[in-house]
Amino acid sequence: MPSPDHAAPDRTIGAGPYRRLVLRNATVIDGTGAPPYGPVDIVIEDARIHSIFVLPPLGGPRLQPHERPLTGPDGREVDLAGHYVLPGLIDAHGHIGWENHVPNAQYVYDLWLANGITTVREPGCFINGLDFVVSEARRSEANAIAAPRIHPYAGFGLDRREPFLTAADAVAWVNEVAESGAEGLKLWGYTAEIYEATLREASRLGLGSMCHHQQSYVAQVNALDSARLGLGSIEHFYGIPEALFADRRLQAFSLDYNYQHEFRRFADAGDLWRQAASPGTPKYEAVLTELLQTGVTLDPTFGVYVGLRDAERVQSSYWHREYTSPTLWDYWQPHSGAHGSFFDEWGTEQETAWRGNFTLWMAFVKDFHDRGGRVTVGTDPGSIFTLFGFAFAQELELLREAGLQPLEIVHAATLAGAELLGVAEETGSVEPGKLADLIVLPANPLSNMKVFYASHPSLESTGERLTIKDGIIYDSRALLDRVRASVRDERDTRGAPPTSS
Ligand SMILES: [Zn+2]
Repeated sequence: MPSPDHAAPDRTIGAGPYRRLVLRNATVIDGTGAPPYGPVDIVIEDARIHSIFVLPPLGGPRLQPHERPLTGPDGREVDLAGHYVLPGLIDAHGHIGWENHVPNAQYVYDLWLANGITTVREPGCFINGLDFVVSEARRSEANAIAAPRIHPYAGFGLDRREPFLTAADAVAWVNEVAESGAEGLKLWGYTAEIYEATLREASRLGLGSMCHHQQSYVAQVNALDSARLGLGSIEHFYGIPEALFADRRLQAFSLDYNYQHEFRRFADAGDLWRQAASPGTPKYEAVLTELLQTGVTLDPTFGVYVGLRDAERVQSSYWHREYTSPTLWDYWQPHSGAHGSFFDEWGTEQETAWRGNFTLWMAFVKDFHDRGGRVTVGTDPGSIFTLFGFAFAQELELLREAGLQPLEIVHAATLAGAELLGVAEETGSVEPGKLADLIVLPANPLSNMKVFYASHPSLESTGERLTIKDGIIYDSRALLDRVRASVRDERDTRGAPPTSS
């Protein structure tokens, strides 16, 4: 159980909500896939977008102040000339982190909000437990804490001492976690019978589902099998190349493979796409077509694998210096037992194989997307040098590398995520009637996606950078100040020099 100190303290930052908040002269990228438009005045009343007032184009007739939406008493206005307003970003795979991993939950929330994330799907709840995540989700819903909206997905049997022995055990567990406030399930491999019964029960109860198809069980259930059973989203990529095998039934594991050995596990995973059927072959087309028909979502989380194709890059990312907590940095160092702790053995051969793996994987994601499949943005932060929040902008850049257009990526990061979570009626696009979950960026993020990073060394840091959730305005720079201060305090307390060089 997490200690009470791990939970976020009551909220002390964020302005509003206001009876009437008017964001003036902004350009909107609404998340639906529509191109940018502006200038507009966006009128927000309390927590919701009331209306969007389109102004004459720049250089056109000037309206009198009274011809534009008024702010009224107790209202506020912000001039956003030259700025872009987008929906709040949705991280479809966001772990909160736990004790001895991150300093506390607020550190994570500050990084998320600073980077424009207003909604997170929390997969597994892990060491914190479901009750903790449900409690934080409710406090966030009430804006008692400064945090994104949190959607708890219970980890498959994690709270039990014994593994499931029968399908009935698993079905009972699904009902228990639903009762405790889980909105969905984070699944991983299990025997086919138990896994299938779990997914059927989740569908019956209207729970969401996501799965990391771990290698040990892919022989029983691959990603296509799961999609046929109604799985919500395929996390990472495991289980997809295996569904595409045309000249084998099982993965060509190294003959000295051991799933418990992190190095072998990640090295062999870098060979999976090479073993799959190639684009254009009958097998590839048949699997892709059927996956699309099932309505399953791909949540690739490319970023957490970048270290496998370039180990130095992820260890020297610019954000570590000021924003990575020493606790987290220590957690990432190679030591036996820690997930992803294979770096001490990683070499050129493994990185080269993984670059090829990325190329094939990205091509599949692009094909799936271009033919109408839903792709979302998940970061899987907290392992393999993947920092909360900053990893989101990195993931957007990786989708760009996969060949999606910037406007398509904004859609994936917003409305597509809301659809996956079943909350698209309320959030995910800039439209009247929806919750005021918005971000304000100081430049056009379509022409340079680095604008999405809360802070970036190659970008000027002038202009507003705001994250608005439920009509409450958070200043991204104030959040970053708080994170930097907490990292400095932690270093001072430990009496150790900055751990990242
Ligand atoms: Zn994860």
